[in-house]
Amino acid sequence: MLPDYQLLRIPGPTPIPPSVQRAMSQPMVGHRSASFQELLSRVAPRLKPLFGTKQDVLILTGSGTLALEAAVVNALDEGEAALVLVTGAFGDRFRKMCQTYGLDTYVIESEWGRAFDVEEVENFLRQHPHIKAVFATYCETSTAVLNPIWELAKVIQQNSDALFIVDAVSCLGAVETKMDEWGIDILVTGSQKALMLPAGLAFAAISEKGWHKVQHNRRPRFYLDLSRYQQSLSDHATPFTPAVSLVMGLEQALNLIEEEGLEQVIKRHQVLKEMTRQAFKALSLPLLTSDKDASPTVTAVRPSQFKADDLRSLLRKKFGLTLAGGQQKLKGEIFRVGHMGYCSPLDVLQTIAAIEVGLKQLGMEIKLGQGTQAAEEVLIHDL
Ligand SMILES: *Cc1c(COP(=O)(O)O)cnc(C)c1O
Repeated sequence: MLPDYQLLRIPGPTPIPPSVQRAMSQPMVGHRSASFQELLSRVAPRLKPLFGTKQDVLILTGSGTLALEAAVVNALDEGEAALVLVTGAFGDRFRKMCQTYGLDTYVIESEWGRAFDVEEVENFLRQHPHIKAVFATYCETSTAVLNPIWELAKVIQQNSDALFIVDAVSCLGAVETKMDEWGIDILVTGSQKALMLPAGLAFAAISEKGWHKVQHNRRPRFYLDLSRYQQSLSDHATPFTPAVSLVMGLEQALNLIEEEGLEQVIKRHQVLKEMTRQAFKALSLPLLTSDKDASPTVTAVRPSQFKADDLRSLLRKKFGLTLAGGQQKLKGEIFRVGHMGYCSPLDVLQTIAAIEVGLKQLGMEIKLGQGTQAAEEVLIHDL
């Protein structure tokens, strides 16, 4: 294997663009300096289009889970009722958090690999008017499903007073997201997925209705108190020392997104998804999700004729290509290809080509080039 060569094709952390890497290596500045204040005032408003909101986007220091936890503790007091939609490992994380914080937690779990059923949620909400918040995962990374958040938002508004709280960690910045228009009350994400940065920044935006609830919530909180971040942001500051270098990188990541154009970024992810799915179909490898439920940022394959982890370890050893495995219920059952953030259609071709070689090595009877051809055909139609 070529030393110091690696292809990271997992659904986060994702590869960092060289210009973002350079931006992060600038000399350190004080987080109370004028130059950092200016940086923050340039960067923060430019996150709004990605969220589809006019609200402030708060910048927290921590991994994505911190933003999930902030949403739970700011929105709800102990004993209040929450409905958690579990479609995989990350929905399950929300469930565990709600239970940990003493919420009266209801769960609707879907078969892993499928999106939630909007009608089922509608019926549930009609029968449980005391639910104060509904938690859902936009892209359920563990199963490669994109849940229909836009449909659910409407149903929640029509049938309940509950807040709608959405984890968009593995798709915000890569898929259409209209927080205000759809009616999401708290929307959170992290830096190391579609935003092309290392882990370390988490982001949260809150609707007017959400802020009202947050400000009246008496649950004790300190580092996670989102009102502090809101107050500081109006002074172009953060309440505690932020990950300064990551904010420098964020400015360049936003430059790249704006230069390409958000619409085009979203379209590119559609193409990456389509190329990946068509390639696996051509290779007769079973996809975990239906076309309708598939996420533009990650694809999961459930092979029946070889062990997913054998393919993963072979590709890692031979080529330095890292694919993700399954989590929890799906451990050992699937492999996942991340295609979000700093990912070009050519990266997909390279990944598919390497997988074809790997399949041959595992003794599978495939025709070399079958997968890449299918992916190329998608690409040609898109040009
Ligand atoms: C990655 C991810 C998170 C956050 O995980 P961290 O390891 O805390 O950054 C949360 N939700 C989803 C859907 C994710 O993909």
